[in-house]
Amino acid sequence: LFLTVEGTEGVGKSTNINFVEQWLTQKGISVFRTREPGGTPLAEALRELLLAPRTELVDPTAELLMVFAARAQHFNQVIKPALARGQWVLCDRFTDATYAYQGAGRGLDVSLIQLLEQVVQGGCRPDCTLLLDIDVEVGLERARSRGELDRFETEAVQFFERVRQCYRERAAVEASRFAIVDASQNLERVQADIAAVLGELLAR
Ligand code: C5P
Repeated sequence: LFLTVEGTEGVGKSTNINFVEQWLTQKGISVFRTREPGGTPLAEALRELLLAPRTELVDPTAELLMVFAARAQHFNQVIKPALARGQWVLCDRFTDATYAYQGAGRGLDVSLIQLLEQVVQGGCRPDCTLLLDIDVEVGLERARSRGELDRFETEAVQFFERVRQCYRERAAVEASRFAIVDASQNLERVQADIAAVLGELLAR
């Protein structure tokens, strides 16, 4: 089963992915945890290039192709074989992030992303996507209080509003794949909601 976790800055993605991993492991499920952009040495090198602050303006199409270059390597070398072995794959961000950040955020054409998605993944999509949702300003405040900002975290609030809106729209259109979790609640309630989603997944 292919499980992904998405959300804008400061939603508590890392903490809650740790929780998902522990919860599944306790149920005796062998979880392969990974992340995007990244997940292989080459893809992690591309991630570093993508996130590093730059004085040069990064062309949105160049950014998109780097994200998908990393994904092709990660998907073919790591994700697909793990799924084929029957493992659960838990991935921190996947192609929904590309629709949200490069599509809605940068304003790139959705059809271009759909094309690359098809080229890289064929018909493979996550079985379940947890969307951690929070007010953009609240999340940014949390993220920025952590200190060092990557190239994306310095974007304007409006950029992240578009990203959040896109995630929510995708979740509404593909309601059976997505589970939206209100990440503004206290951690205990967020994790109770996540556990409920995972419980339903296991009962499928
Ligand atoms: O998941 P994490 O927050 O570590 O991602 C690192 C950064 O990469 C984030 O700032 C995120 O906004 C950005 N990103 C992106 N496009 C993607 C995936 C991640 O802009 N497709």
